[in-house]
Order: sequence, then structure tokens, then C-alpha cells
Amino acid sequence: MPRFFVLIACCACLFSTCVDVDIPGSAEVVKERSAPPNIIFILTDDQGYGDLSCYGSSRIYSPNLDQMATEGIKLTSFYAFPSCSPSRAALMTGCYPPRVGIPDVVGPPGVAWTANKQYGLHPQETTLPEALKSVGYVTAMVGKWHLGHFPETMPQKHGFDQFFGLPYSNDMLPEKGYGNLSLMRNTDTLEVNPDQTQLVKRYTAEALDFIRQKRDVPFFLYLAHSMPHVPIFASDDFLEKSGRGLYADVIAEIDASVGTLLAELKVQGIDENTLVIFTSDNGPWLTYGNHAGSAGPFREGKGTTWEGGMRVPMIARWPGKISAGSVSHHPASLTDILPTLVSIAGAGLPEKKIDGRDLTAHLTSPAPAAAPPPDAPMCYYRSGNLDAVRVGKWKLHVPHSFRYVDIVGNDAVSGNYAYRDTGLELYDLEGDPGEKYNVAEKFPEKTEELRALIERLQAEMETEKRAPFRPGEGVS
Ligand code: MG
Repeated sequence: MPRFFVLIACCACLFSTCVDVDIPGSAEVVKERSAPPNIIFILTDDQGYGDLSCYGSSRIYSPNLDQMATEGIKLTSFYAFPSCSPSRAALMTGCYPPRVGIPDVVGPPGVAWTANKQYGLHPQETTLPEALKSVGYVTAMVGKWHLGHFPETMPQKHGFDQFFGLPYSNDMLPEKGYGNLSLMRNTDTLEVNPDQTQLVKRYTAEALDFIRQKRDVPFFLYLAHSMPHVPIFASDDFLEKSGRGLYADVIAEIDASVGTLLAELKVQGIDENTLVIFTSDNGPWLTYGNHAGSAGPFREGKGTTWEGGMRVPMIARWPGKISAGSVSHHPASLTDILPTLVSIAGAGLPEKKIDGRDLTAHLTSPAPAAAPPPDAPMCYYRSGNLDAVRVGKWKLHVPHSFRYVDIVGNDAVSGNYAYRDTGLELYDLEGDPGEKYNVAEKFPEKTEELRALIERLQAEMETEKRAPFRPGEGVS
């Protein structure tokens, strides 16, 4: 069982005890909610920073997410990690991926390249849903898990009361040399190799059922869409409707799903007491050409520690708590979600060391720029290596190899990557968000300061990192 030792004081300014409040001079009596807020966390897969109209896309039309940003806060420096499993590990634990033994993509069963990647998130890690359950939340996961397909590492062993979805990525299919891809309800396989044109619809229906059933208790819903990870599919209601290609059709269907869920919160009378967060797990898979997303103004994409690989859209909406139309430019990441949400829920932090910070005061400030989150460097880990670090506007890469698009693919067929090495490269992300102009020689002191920081942080992580679960090992 998970244990907690740090109790965070309930944020009385964020939710209040059950009271009837007489407003002076008014006969009106306002009934305040007694419970902490419901939380819905929506994660898309491989959607780039530039893949929403409110993030500057001219290809994507996303009216519901644009409206959500208008009613909430939009983050412009929010980071995931370079690939699926590491980002999900960070979200679930509040830790940088190597700290919890998930430095890279977790392998599905039965394929040679996965032989040394047969692991999952260790059951002894304390997860976000476990922390929320400790203060009375009911929890559900819908969608893609990808933190280990073993019985010991599936969602219900990590704090979710219920699960509907896929154990890993939607491209790990028999025709690509993998085993059957199971669509699961809890521990049962409902179907193998399901019709992927229906995934967004089915996930949305599951999410709606959960919201309707649990409207009277605090709930945490984690909706992790399989789309727009290749192979991409849209249902007939959206196929060829955007006029801008299949990728735009897929995002339009996800956008409509968000609109459906937000509308249901109003129908159920819980709109005011529900925090909804939307983000993506990594940047676009660029070798897929017209079936890939866009990193917007940023360099490279998925699988890299350039901004395009890790900077993603992030929108949070909580009526009356988060100021409508606010914007944050401060660096933040998926590691910050657990400490933020447990703070809002009045739960405790995990006993083991985490990396994230509580962003509550920042996100709920009427002026987020004047209420920055606690200072911390942003660490760009890829496959366990700390490739780069960001402090304020400065980002330093230490020498590492990276992939770039050599041949662009088209219509579900991948092109090819080629590889190159960086040097010691310093970028000013405010003046040069595309990481085009290395200014290491112009700012040698800043370069040395950040180089030494990377060396120290990487050494600390090597001594502190914890093991993943591997099959055949005990869990206690
Ligand atoms: Mg992904």
C-alpha cells in the first residue's frame, strides 16, 4: 500500500467547507460546495505544440479547446518528455522519468527490440490516483496506459478504480510484427485489434458514463487518447470533414470530444467544481509527414530534446478559480501535475522523492506572471540522459546525438530519420525559440554555469534513480 508522510494544508481559498453563506444586503443564500474539485486530465498522443488554432495553427480548427483556453489559462512553456512512456511516468509520479525507472518507451510483448524494455512502473511508486484516493476520490482511466502491460503494472494496480482502453500504443499491431492489441475493460480483454475509427467515440462515451455516475463524489478522470498517434483514424462524422486532411479531421474529433465533456459538466451541475486540464505527451512524429502534427515555431519533434520534441499545448480550466483568458509563459512540466493536483485535493505528497512543484498559486493567480512557480531548472531527459537544461530563458545542450527528418513520409507511410551530434550549445529561448543561434561562445559564463548544473543533476539522478518493475521480480 502506498504511504504518505507530508500532509499539505487544504487550500481554503480554493474550496470551502460546507456552509450556507448569507451575503450582506442580499436575501440570497449561496450554497457552497463541500468537496474538493473533480479533476479531468485529458492527454493526447503525439500532438504537437502547433496543433491547435489557439496555439497558432492555420491547419487545425479547434473551437472547443480554443474556448477552453479563453475561459481558463493557456501555458506556452509547458513540457512533456520525448516519448510516450516517460511522459506518462512523469504524469503519474511527479518525477523525471529516469527517477522511476521509465527512461524510455516500454516494450510490448514478443518483439526483439523490446527484449530489454520489458518493464513497467513499479507498484511501490505512489501515483497520482493513489494520492487522490487517499482523500476520497473515485478514479478512472480511459485510453492508452503504456506503463507496463503486466498484471502487476496495469492501471488498477496503480490507483485506478476502473480502466477502459489499450495497454500500449495503437501502432503495436500484428501487421507490424507485434501480438494482438487488446482493448480492455479492467483486466478483461473485450476485443483484439479494435476498429480504431471508433476509439475517440468509445473513449468519450466511457468518460461520459463515468462523469454521470460519479457526479456526486469527487472524481479523477484520466482520459488518454490514443490519437493522433499513427496510424491515425477518424470516425465517419469527422472523416474528410475538416477539408485539411486526415490529421486535421482527427484533431477535430478530439476537440469535439472535449466540447462534449465540458457540456456534460454543465448538464450535471458540476461545471464550477471541476478542473479540466488538456495537454499532449510529446511532440509530433515528423517522419509521418502529412499524418504527423506540427511543432509550431519549435525545432524538431518527438524523440528529441529540442523544443519541438517536448514543448506541448497545455490548457487548464476551472471556473471561478483560474482567471479566464490568462496566459503563463513560465516553464512547467508534467512532473508538476501530481504535486499541483494533490495540493488542490488536500492530499499528501508521495513519501519517495519527487521532482515536480505545486503550480496551484501560479495557475490560479489573477496575474500568473506576477506569481511565478517555485524556481527549478527544467531538465530535458531522453533515454535517461540529461541532454539539456533550461533556467529562465537560457537552455544549454551538452553534446548528444539527435534524430532529424531525412526523408519525409506520406499517408501513413513513415519516411526516415538521420542522426547528427550537437556540441555544447546555448540558446536564448525568448529571442530564439527555434534554437537556431548557438550563443555559447558569446556567453561563456552562463554556458559553464549550466554545464556544471547538468553534470551535477545527472550525477544526482544516477545515484537516486529507482528501479522499474520487471516480470518475475517480487513487488514487495
Ligand atoms: Mg506519444
